[in-house]
Amino acid sequence: PATSLAHAHTAAAGKDSDGARTVGLDAKLQVVDENQHFTKTLDEHMKGWNLADAGFNYDVVAVFGSQSTGKSTLLNRLFGTRFDVMSETERRQTTKGIWMSKGQDMNVLVMDVEGTDGRERGEDQDFERKSALFSMAVAEVLIVNIWEHQVGLYQGANMGLLKTVFEVNLGLFLAAKQKGKEKGSSQDKTLLLFVIRDHIGATPLANLRNTLTADLNRLWDGLSKPSGLESSTIETFFDLDFVALPHKLLQPEKFEEGVLDLRKRFKSPQEGGDVYVFKSKYHRRIPADGISTYMGTIWDAVVSNKDLDLPTQQELLAQFRCGEIASQAFELFSTAVAAFPPSPGAGKIDSSLGARMAAAIASALKSYDTAASRYHPAVYARQRVELVSKLHAALHPLYVSHLKNLHKLVLREYRVEIEQAIRGEGYDFALVVRSAREKAEKTFEKEAKAVVLEESGWSVEEQRAGLQEDMDQVAELLRKEETRKMVAVIERNIKRQMSDTVELALNKPSDDMWDKVLSAFKAALAKAEEAYLKKAKSFNCTQEEMDGALSLLRRRSWLALRSKLQEHTAEAPMLGKLKLVFEDKFRYDADGVPRVWKPEDDIDLIFRKAKDSVLELIPLYAEIKPSDPFNAFELPSSSGPTGVVDPAAASADEDFDFQESLQLLSPSAQSSLSNRFRREADAYYIEAKRSMVASRAQ
Ligand code: GDP
Ligand code: MG
Repeated sequence: PATSLAHAHTAAAGKDSDGARTVGLDAKLQVVDENQHFTKTLDEHMKGWNLADAGFNYDVVAVFGSQSTGKSTLLNRLFGTRFDVMSETERRQTTKGIWMSKGQDMNVLVMDVEGTDGRERGEDQDFERKSALFSMAVAEVLIVNIWEHQVGLYQGANMGLLKTVFEVNLGLFLAAKQKGKEKGSSQDKTLLLFVIRDHIGATPLANLRNTLTADLNRLWDGLSKPSGLESSTIETFFDLDFVALPHKLLQPEKFEEGVLDLRKRFKSPQEGGDVYVFKSKYHRRIPADGISTYMGTIWDAVVSNKDLDLPTQQELLAQFRCGEIASQAFELFSTAVAAFPPSPGAGKIDSSLGARMAAAIASALKSYDTAASRYHPAVYARQRVELVSKLHAALHPLYVSHLKNLHKLVLREYRVEIEQAIRGEGYDFALVVRSAREKAEKTFEKEAKAVVLEESGWSVEEQRAGLQEDMDQVAELLRKEETRKMVAVIERNIKRQMSDTVELALNKPSDDMWDKVLSAFKAALAKAEEAYLKKAKSFNCTQEEMDGALSLLRRRSWLALRSKLQEHTAEAPMLGKLKLVFEDKFRYDADGVPRVWKPEDDIDLIFRKAKDSVLELIPLYAEIKPSDPFNAFELPSSSGPTGVVDPAAASADEDFDFQESLQLLSPSAQSSLSNRFRREADAYYIEAKRSMVASRAQ
């Protein structure tokens, strides 16, 4: 009766619409061909078999035995594979080589070794040895297929084959040991499962087992063993088990029953129970994605008769595969990074960059770890470190430009913040700067921290220091600007305040004229200084800066006063003032009544007295000089730079001679003024004379 295993062998490898071969689940592959070449499509088949990502979750079984003992038939029955079976009618030889297929409904790689039966035909046993070596290196379970009637024939072909298997295994052990790597651990044990075919039933399996075991031990004892292994037994390297199957043609139903029973041992630990064959101790620990490379290199070593040392092979495989897995991870990562949103431009930042970078790294490492962690731990770890530093290096430029832009952004916000705060009144500059700075630093730390990847060793120290320096400079600049503005405002106020005082005082010349002006000026200046100092305190100014600003303030105020005074003491207004005083004295009498000149009036005397008293006023106006020295005002003179720190006040750096500044009218200006005044006064005199003559004539 057809079993469930025999049903679905319709399309091993279908063709898709493009004509390209796609590997089907039940495809079979000639891993080693008649010319002893290793396949190039094992990877592709691993994918087709859905095993590429299986990790360690797969097993390998190989079959050994003489030609035409029903090996392929057995495998096809057990695993649902489609290995070629010699036709019963044609007796045509099947294609030589090592074939591989995946067990149906199980993650098992099944290897069918098709050789010429060298022993029986007298050909060399080269291929048998090579395939034995290869199978030992990769398979967990070796099925040894023999006829019942061969059991006990110690000189038979089977024993020759087993001798080869044993020798090859000892060779592997020795090669590993010479490399200083101990192979004899239980993990490297192999299960030899003897399947005794055409079991008639007359001899119980237990007896067959005893006979075979005795023969095997005899064989083992006869082998020349490397030193240290003289007392070793078969069990040091192998577990043995025995199964018997009835004759397929004579007892087909019993045969099928036996096969189904045997299949359970391969199917799963649940179904197999105690006799489940793929115990983890047999597993070769080659991750599925490395199988193709591993088998390929093993076969190459086998073919070229090199010493095959599996631990070294596994380490080489680990290096190769971890490298490949790392570059795949890096490629994934590069694609992800290329898909990052474009940089937001100078002075702008993308706050999600850090998270994006971290995610890209995490997913790259996850992809690496998943596959690579199955390999040699040291190799895996070493290549991981390399990968991580490569990932970090790739992201470093993004990090650097992010920090630069962050610096710009924070600095700009900081400046705007201060500028806005000092636009109004009543702020405390130092407080404004401090809070703006705190905010800026907080933003910087937060955004900078977000892009510093874990374990990257990246430091924001330099950028932080640069930012702080820049912020200091901005604050300094703003403070100076503020100081300059403040001094200008104070100066304007003084000018306004002084304007009336000056006007009043200068229009009514008197001995204490300058006392009035100067004391008013000093009072205004004192108030201004007080106002400045009050503000300056919040500027965190140094004493030197405050002194500089104060001396600037004094200088500017003084110069403002002086320019006001100069307006008043220019020739024309001066003449006006003098004329008014003269008129007062000449045209009005002592009681302020306008004079009507009478003949008895001594015009000449009155005229001379009035004129002289006015002329005496000119020196009074000419120099700012209080009558009481107490009211004197003084400023230090300077040539070249003053002590003023503020560069914005460069005008104050001009040469300044205080004594000179007290002089309002130069001697020549004074004489010119007095000349003009005399002429004007003379005109008054003539007019007065005429009016008297006219009155007398009436
Ligand atoms: P292989 O060369 O070992 O792979 O053997 P094949 O599977 O190609 O089978 C060789 C021949 O043995 C075929 O004609 C099969 O029909 C036949 N055969 C398969 N299984 C059995 C069996 O259990 N008993 C006997 N007597 N013949 C079998
Ligand atoms: Mg076969």
